[in-house]
Amino acid sequence: MDKENALKTLRSIDNELVLLEHITATLYWDQEEAPPLAQEERSRQIGLLEKKIHELATGDSLMEALVSLGADEKKKDGDDDLDPETKALVRQRYRQLSKESRLSSDFVRTFSETTSSAHQVWAKARQDSDFSLFEPVLEKIVGLLQQKADFYGFEDDPYDPLLDNFEPGMKARDVESVFSPLEKQLQYIVEQLRGRPEVDDSFLYQSYPVDLQKKFSDKVLNAMGFDFDRGKVGLSTHPYTTTLGADDIRITTRYTEASVASPLYSIIHEGGHALYEMGVSHGSLKGTCLANAASLAFHESQSRLWENMVGRSREFWHCFYPEFSRLFPAQLKNVDEEAFYQAINRVKPGTIRVDADEVTYSLHIILRFNLERKLLSGALAVKDLRDAWNDELRRLLGVDVMSDKEGVLQDVHWSMGEFGYFPTYALGNVYAAQIYDAMKNEVDVDSVIEGGDFSPIHDYLNKNVYSFGSIHDPKDLLMKVTKEDLDASHYISYLTKKYVSQEGY
Ligand code: ZN
Repeated sequence: MDKENALKTLRSIDNELVLLEHITATLYWDQEEAPPLAQEERSRQIGLLEKKIHELATGDSLMEALVSLGADEKKKDGDDDLDPETKALVRQRYRQLSKESRLSSDFVRTFSETTSSAHQVWAKARQDSDFSLFEPVLEKIVGLLQQKADFYGFEDDPYDPLLDNFEPGMKARDVESVFSPLEKQLQYIVEQLRGRPEVDDSFLYQSYPVDLQKKFSDKVLNAMGFDFDRGKVGLSTHPYTTTLGADDIRITTRYTEASVASPLYSIIHEGGHALYEMGVSHGSLKGTCLANAASLAFHESQSRLWENMVGRSREFWHCFYPEFSRLFPAQLKNVDEEAFYQAINRVKPGTIRVDADEVTYSLHIILRFNLERKLLSGALAVKDLRDAWNDELRRLLGVDVMSDKEGVLQDVHWSMGEFGYFPTYALGNVYAAQIYDAMKNEVDVDSVIEGGDFSPIHDYLNKNVYSFGSIHDPKDLLMKVTKEDLDASHYISYLTKKYVSQEGY
């Protein structure tokens, strides 16, 4: 195939794949709304599309085009004379094709059948709070993941090729070199906070009318720059963000009258993801696979930057509290701005990851990273996982797990066969703090937040992060934005200033 034709073929297949992925996402989105009897055919519709996507993404036409553009195992981004965007497109497509085609179709089927049936087993085990019900299927999943790593191939750690699916180019030892010191520093911060008087946050857990909560969170989304002409907010049990088209980005939340903080922060969190999606799918990358985040941790860094660094700052509440407290005069009658700020930043080691505060959250992730690595290498047997989990939580956070439901069964990820996903949550925190510090060199962040119009922050992130999509690998993008390699000291100094010395950040 000549080069011109190869480029045409690559772009047209890439474009078709993106459309198919958006159609699949639309079917998933609508699944929540579909009546019960529709579910069976809906699953088949999605299955068919996923099969088509797999065939096209690993097919001979794409391979032929990529080879004609000079791509091979040594040079995944193809010939030197290609422009940077095309090189990135070649690299992304080659990487995916080369990895996916190493998995036999039998293996892919077994993996998908096992994990889809595992979901119900996990849900039942969780409901009954009994790990032994989930143990046999998890054993099967771990075996399949070991096979998957073998199919992909690796140098010295089977965790590497699985992690690479979420954080391209990163190795388990890179994560370890960030997590080991981080663990000690986070524990040190927790220790220093231990003797402090307990913060009262009981007023967050009263009845807060949903329509007023919604009014306020829409205002915050507006201030962040969420484009309501290109996005929408829906409802679901578990909040998430999904892209149904370049100009159709959806986020969900779950309003509860009982707590006012968690729906608001889930909206800001998902809003941060949505801004990234809105930013990458504009401009020259629109409609290509490069209109995606650089990695999962990069995506998470943006949601956490908005949620924690902006949304939980003193400046944010200095700006918004007068209005917020006017919306809920009865609930916040005796609560001043400082008491509110302390409540939404309360640090308390607990057992549940999704309820964890900013300081202890990453310790929950370090636990999962350590355990899944041991399971994969065979150093830990699934039958010993519950005890290992409980011991590790006691070691890291000093808390006791009272039931499997609030321990080893709390997360869905392992039932889905996803190892290598968890670290991206904590890495997101680390990236976020590093990017936030870099941003402070150009933007007077504190006064921008206090002013209530966040566009200078949004513009900075758009220009320096979002607009690059996945042209660069996460390591290179981080270097481009912050001029340094991944360094957890930014995150630690952010937490220390905010929580230990209470200087604000
Ligand atoms: Zn997120």
